[in-house]
Amino acid sequence: MKIVVKGLGVSGSYLLYRLSRESNIEVSGYDISKRYAKPCGDAVTLRPWIRDLLEELEVVRASVTKYTVKVEGKTVFEVSLKKPYWYIVDKPLLVEKLRFLAANNGARIEYTSPHNVEKYSCNRSRDCIIVDARGPFSHVKTTKYVVAIRYLARADWDMSHALLDFYPRHGGLFWVFPGSVREGVVNFGGGFLNRPVNYTEAFVKKYVKDLLDNYDLLDKRASPIAVFSPIRPLEKKSGKIQKLRIGESAGFIISTAGEGNRPGLESAEALYNAIIDSESPKEIAQGYLRRVKTLVSEAKASRHALKLAIRLGSRFYEFSRSLPEEFWHTYLQSRITMRYLVKIVLKNPGLLRYIL
Ligand SMILES: Cc1cc2nc3c(=O)[nH]c(=O)nc-3n(C[C@H](O)[C@H](O)[C@H](O)COP(=O)(O)OP(=O)(O)OC[C@H]3O[C@@H](n4cnc5c(N)ncnc54)[C@H](O)[C@@H]3O)c2cc1C
Repeated sequence: MKIVVKGLGVSGSYLLYRLSRESNIEVSGYDISKRYAKPCGDAVTLRPWIRDLLEELEVVRASVTKYTVKVEGKTVFEVSLKKPYWYIVDKPLLVEKLRFLAANNGARIEYTSPHNVEKYSCNRSRDCIIVDARGPFSHVKTTKYVVAIRYLARADWDMSHALLDFYPRHGGLFWVFPGSVREGVVNFGGGFLNRPVNYTEAFVKKYVKDLLDNYDLLDKRASPIAVFSPIRPLEKKSGKIQKLRIGESAGFIISTAGEGNRPGLESAEALYNAIIDSESPKEIAQGYLRRVKTLVSEAKASRHALKLAIRLGSRFYEFSRSLPEEFWHTYLQSRITMRYLVKIVLKNPGLLRYIL
């Protein structure tokens, strides 16, 4: 079996790393950039195996146990936990380590221009699969983006505290997360649907001016998040499998939070398991689709919730206040599926007046 992975961000490099340890699989990976420099809030929602992976690779920079959720500056939920829902990681280092380990295990890795990447293919080999892991860059022609700006700064901030502040009328949110405990670095930023970068920049600057007394800016970068991308883990043409997609390329982004790291890792793990359990590309595709059912449901639920938040606009604060505490815990753990949405509405019929 031969696997060709295009895009070596968090999901592509993790898949490459997992497959590189299988002796009967020939695996190669391509990226346009040797250094992973894409900005991120660097938060990873924890699952037991993800926690183990991040700890083992020594990329954890902070552990988030305090959460504040606001809507247009007004607090709707606050919690202090004993155990974190999220870790903050050094994501470029995570990607670098996964690529390095994969190469050490024998995976072929090449860095080339976007034009050349298109040339790498299965070359008519039957037992070969192309995996698209190009993240939001897979959706350039097909979707609306949030262009998020991320700042790294030295500032006085509780390094166990994450703040999310929703501005549904602007189709987005602000965040302030710990960056690195050891270096006293804060990661903050914002992203709003269909707003230009200079609008977001001015909005974020104004927002943090009131929040952080003083900060020493270290880095500023912007990058897209494809919050309304199609959810499409499998691409077919004339009934034939063209390619499989993982991570944000597959649409595995939780639109209400801009969360793509954990879904990226989970989808790569799902594809890895489908590959090692199956004999043919068709079986692999079936096994993969079966394993990502929950992720598909989470991504769908997040698209519905984001659309609802935008539609509610100024009424979103009132709506958020009527959500039970349990909802916010589930949201912060990123476990909101379509089934969960139905359940929460059935348990709280008062919510219907906002939805219908
Ligand atoms: C500012 C910002 C803050 C965010 N904060 C968070 C957060 O705190 N927590 C969270 O979970 N998510 C966050 N996200 C989302 C998260 O960063 C992405 O969803 C996640 O990185 C997706 O992983 P991926 O592997 O699918 O794609 P990516 O990590 O985007 O990797 C894609 C890779 O493909 C490569 N590539 C691009 N074009 C080509 C091509 N033509 N050929 C080959 N390779 C190509 C790129 O160089 C890159 O290495 C944030 C996003 C942004 C922009």
